[in-house]
Amino acid sequence: MNAKTQIQERKNYIDGRFVGSARQFTKLSPVDGTAVAIAHEADRAMVDAAVRAARAALKGPWGRMPLQERVDLLRKIAAGIEKRFDDFLAAEVADTGKPVSLASHLDIPRGAANFRIFADIVRTYGTESYFLDTPDAKGAVNYAMRKPLGVIGVIAPWNLPLLLLTWKLAPALACGNTIVAKPSEETPSTATLLAEVMHEAGVPAGVFNVVHGFGPDSAGEFITTHPGVDAITFTGETTTGAAIMKAVAPTVKPVSFELGGKNPGIVFADCDFEAAAAGMANAIFANCGQVCLAPERVYVERPIFERFVQALKQKAEAYVMGWPADAKTNMGPLISKQHREKVLSYYALAREEGATLVTGGGIPKFGDARDNGSYVQPTLWTGLPETARTVKEEIFGPCAHIAPFDTEEEAIAMANDTPLRARLDRVDHEPVARASRGAGHGVRHRLGELLVPSRPAHALRRRQALRHRPRGRAAFAELL
Ligand code: NAD
Repeated sequence: MNAKTQIQERKNYIDGRFVGSARQFTKLSPVDGTAVAIAHEADRAMVDAAVRAARAALKGPWGRMPLQERVDLLRKIAAGIEKRFDDFLAAEVADTGKPVSLASHLDIPRGAANFRIFADIVRTYGTESYFLDTPDAKGAVNYAMRKPLGVIGVIAPWNLPLLLLTWKLAPALACGNTIVAKPSEETPSTATLLAEVMHEAGVPAGVFNVVHGFGPDSAGEFITTHPGVDAITFTGETTTGAAIMKAVAPTVKPVSFELGGKNPGIVFADCDFEAAAAGMANAIFANCGQVCLAPERVYVERPIFERFVQALKQKAEAYVMGWPADAKTNMGPLISKQHREKVLSYYALAREEGATLVTGGGIPKFGDARDNGSYVQPTLWTGLPETARTVKEEIFGPCAHIAPFDTEEEAIAMANDTPLRARLDRVDHEPVARASRGAGHGVRHRLGELLVPSRPAHALRRRQALRHRPRGRAAFAELL
């Protein structure tokens, strides 16, 4: 399979129909800069039609559908994605440029699995009841019947397009809500394919709508400001989250956010060195660093600091930025030239701030069409103070700053000197638990651990609540 597939047209899906628009935008391949898709941008009237269809669907067959039928439908959607696995894979790789080896084992299977997981969870989701004392001493039981929230606006990012979109959709649909979804303008394709799968699976018209477009003065803003949308669930940058909070204020919608991160990784001297170095390299560089959990600050206990820096350097330099379909390729490009400009501006900033460059820092040269893509070199720095912007701000690229520490307390203090979540790494469990308790985080990550959608991920600190992803049963609390 080649990332250079023919140019695909990606229409909106509104009220059970695929709808074109007079305004279109071109999605360019991050691999070689060629056009891979033409997306039809939804205007305000189209978003309004999608919201009205979603409202109407709440009262139609979907609203009356028995739970078991809804569960069966979700499973059918998962099977539908799997049946068209190659189409989804080609579309995801064309839009993102990520290696086929990654998308085929992560993005697409996990996108399908999300529907099964939430189908399973909703099947056994109970209701709450409370016992009350009464004056006649007989007592009473109060119980809560939860109903769908209504029309949910789902706004998704580009880094794991199908996986993160379905992570929001699947619990919302499982709970009986209807959806108006907007994928990122950088990754319009798999959302449209998903609409085809839903259509074929027999999801009633209006239950799932896809509108393409951008944020401000486009489909994103039209969703967040629409009075007919009952709640917003958003994954993306912190600044966009802030803009959305403002936008929803006049219509007072509940919002669920997963925002940016500047995750620390902590490596203790008594770790299994090889496993820690391999795990940390994978955590920093997977998906070209475009992962909200990727550590961009690594703290290493002093006795192994130099050796660990050299090990990460060696691993960074071994990444293969080949064509996506090549089995040896394990690093793709950044999502776009625009995002590469942002990442390169941080590479320049690190120099200005006085970083010691361990490896990378620039653009690779291929001598072929990939030079028109948006590749950057995996990059590591040392020597920056903790106050440097490179150490404080999310870059969202394949890069990290590595600093030594002497005591666990010092490492935890540095790790937590951010409003964002910590990633605390150690191979054995007990110290991870200890560090995690000290850091005040509700979720503990081990090296290389994958996200588990059925695990709750409530953060303990208020500031973090703005970027947690309520998973499993906890997800339903926001959707019923
Ligand atoms: P982004 O905020 O630029 O865009 C995300 C989505 O919001 C896109 O669909 C975009 O069109 C839309 N949008 C932009 N402005 C909007 C507005 N004013 N109103 C409504 N919609 C608007 O984010 P991105 O660049 O696509 O994704 C990268 C960011 O996402 C990083 O910061 C990363 O950390 C974060 N992210 C977080 C998690 C998490 O779990 N916390 C997961 C993945 C990505």
